Amino acid sequence: MEDFKKKLQDSSFEGEVLDDLETRVFYSHDASLFEVLPELIVAPKDAKAVEALVKLVAENKKTIPGLSLTGRSAGTDMAGGAINDSIIVDFTKNINKIVSVTSERAVVQPGMYYRDFEVETLKKGALMPSYPASRDMAAIGGIVNNNSGGEKSLEYGKTADWVAGLKVVFADGIEREVRPLDRKALDKKMAQKDFEGKVYREIYELIEAHYDAIKAAKPKVSKNSMGYGIWDVWDRETGVFDLTQLITGSEGTLGLTTEVEFKLTPKRAHSGLLVFFLSDINKLGDVINTVLEHKPATFEGFDDQTMILFFKLMPSLLRQMGAPAFLRLMINMIPQGFMVLRGYPKFIMMVEFNGETTQEVKDKIHALRLSLDLKRRQYNITAYEEDGTEAKSEKFWLMRRKSFQLLRSKVKDKHTAPFIDDFVVPPKYLPEFLPRLQKIIRKYKLFATIAGHMGDGNFHVIPLMEIEKKSERDKILPAMKEVNKLVLQYGGSLSGEHNDGMVRGPWLEEQFGTEILEVFRKAKAIMDPDGIFNPHKKANADWDFSYSHIRDHF
Ligand SMILES: Cc1cc2nc3c(=O)[nH]c(=O)nc-3n(C[C@H](O)[C@H](O)[C@H](O)COP(=O)(O)OP(=O)(O)OC[C@H]3O[C@@H](n4cnc5c(N)ncnc54)[C@H](O)[C@@H]3O)c2cc1C
Repeated sequence: MEDFKKKLQDSSFEGEVLDDLETRVFYSHDASLFEVLPELIVAPKDAKAVEALVKLVAENKKTIPGLSLTGRSAGTDMAGGAINDSIIVDFTKNINKIVSVTSERAVVQPGMYYRDFEVETLKKGALMPSYPASRDMAAIGGIVNNNSGGEKSLEYGKTADWVAGLKVVFADGIEREVRPLDRKALDKKMAQKDFEGKVYREIYELIEAHYDAIKAAKPKVSKNSMGYGIWDVWDRETGVFDLTQLITGSEGTLGLTTEVEFKLTPKRAHSGLLVFFLSDINKLGDVINTVLEHKPATFEGFDDQTMILFFKLMPSLLRQMGAPAFLRLMINMIPQGFMVLRGYPKFIMMVEFNGETTQEVKDKIHALRLSLDLKRRQYNITAYEEDGTEAKSEKFWLMRRKSFQLLRSKVKDKHTAPFIDDFVVPPKYLPEFLPRLQKIIRKYKLFATIAGHMGDGNFHVIPLMEIEKKSERDKILPAMKEVNKLVLQYGGSLSGEHNDGMVRGPWLEEQFGTEILEVFRKAKAIMDPDGIFNPHKKANADWDFSYSHIRDHF
């Protein structure tokens, strides 16, 4: 790597190049349970520097076979997608600006944090609505390359639905625009004699050769981040060929994203929540199905462990929020004190409705309450709170969004071990699925918090473990295999939004079968023939590599 570093510094590449141990250790982690020490960290100055970097890596790949590039935005990936053993390319340092924004479209660089991006879109009264729960920490490049989703995905879908165009540095070191093409434009692209022409031609031929199998492989759930979104690239009926759908969610394994054009949606004028407590979750599936009949905008939930941890971690929150905001929060929490007196909740459900007026929102909330009330005993509902405005709802959103974040840094003897953190099961199967899941959690004595996007059947089960103990680490593979098998038995997906990374990439064959895994491998080989982008992920992941990099110290 010394040689390569020198070549890079002598080349036209502009930007920071770091290899001191402290920096390498920092970049050896994301929010996953893995640790991989990189050799070099670079922060290109601009897209030209990314091009120079990719060209140099491609030229040197034969003499230094281990050389590779892993894109990194905010590094909050929960699956190990943003770490690797060669070169990490940090986009947040320099390639982090907003290029343009209107009420309908925004063009933004990948290193911009979502929280800063949202300030700009809100000035135009608009939102990119598939932001993740990690909205305060994540950046655009990761949101796109994970095909992230979040609390608004029930109504608005995932990031792939909001990407209008991308700029990507391809494996030959050239930045290109990628957009949906009609048949005529596709034919023109495929006729090109360069690397781009070859990519379009071969991806088109690959999809045509497996057309029906590819279309049938798309998971039948409302959210999926497993595999490559190849089923949404070419549609014979509409004649549209959209390579953005392959790249979005690809974990930087097909190229490095240097710019994103998003479609935006107007921010709804008013919203409010119906919150209710369940004393038992054995009817959770039925509850979810009843709520979905009311077509809510968002439908989230979290368990008692999440709530208890939230209260325990209040001092950290006080430091994060500052005293005035914290005091407001405490005053708003008083009604919950009374709700808890009526029965300690096992699960807290949050159902959000939007509307043009406050009254419309209140009416929708109340209508749901009335229908739930009809089955109150059967559903084990112990209390309700109708929060008709955003201000009143804030406390629940804080619990839902902040808990995992606080959990990661503040629980002393145990560590978050996300390995069954993102599965999706069609909501209609949840009454059967959930008791079986709980049985597995009990069997392996996993102390786990459960939260998630109830309306999509997308659950985040995050065990807290003494991961430095071998006996604890030994539970990971068998417990994960049992949960994966159960999820697939119900036609689910192993990842709704956190993506495969090192934790789920090895199970793509279980999820999709051999033909589709082979299609994924070919797509990767077409776009990245020398294997320079983010190895050990997606179709090239393997459990031995992943297992050998589980963190055994913190
Ligand atoms: C508390 C918490 C809550 C979370 N909640 C959610 C949630 O609700 N929904 C959800 O989807 N995720 C969630 N996540 C996971 C993660 O935060 C998101 O997926 C987020 O969008 C990742 O953004 P990032 O900027 O941190 O990406 P990173 O971690 O930096 O990268 C993510 C992936 O994108 C690739 N990548 C990044 N930038 C580029 C680039 N410029 N070019 C090519 N590849 C690139 C990386 O290689 C990696 O594979 C959560 C994580 C935490 C810690």
